[in-house]
Amino acid sequence: MPIDATQPYDHGNIFARILRGELPARIVHEDEWAIAFHDINPQAPVHILVVPRGPYVSWDDFSARADAEEIAGFIRAVGAVARAHGLVAPGYRLLANVGGHGGQEVPHLHVHLFGGAPLGPMLAR
Ligand code: AMP
Repeated sequence: MPIDATQPYDHGNIFARILRGELPARIVHEDEWAIAFHDINPQAPVHILVVPRGPYVSWDDFSARADAEEIAGFIRAVGAVARAHGLVAPGYRLLANVGGHGGQEVPHLHVHLFGGAPLGPMLAR
């Protein structure tokens, strides 16, 4: 069920629990600003979620409230994960779902990083 991206941050959401180490995840990257782990239900040969450490519901919330260091750190983490997985030369796709029309289900900002094969059309029709 997609979330309402205007809701206040829910500290009990599943990615908050992964960030606190309360739930397991296949973590591939950790730094001061972000963590990244494999999606539990991969939609491509490589499907990694990059998640900022701070409590932001969505891209909208993050772009409005995060400070410049957090934004830079998160964006750099996305790039670092892609490079570490050898995805730059073959190419890859980034996706951030926001709210109802975006189909966002977990109310903590995450960027999906897809790769490992040609990914087809940008949107299902
Ligand atoms: P979104 O629709 O953009 O909110 O995507 C949420 C993503 O989180 C989906 O691709 C799920 O498969 C993934 N997901 C949900 N729970 C977990 C979990 N515990 N570990 C890793 N990925 C998860």
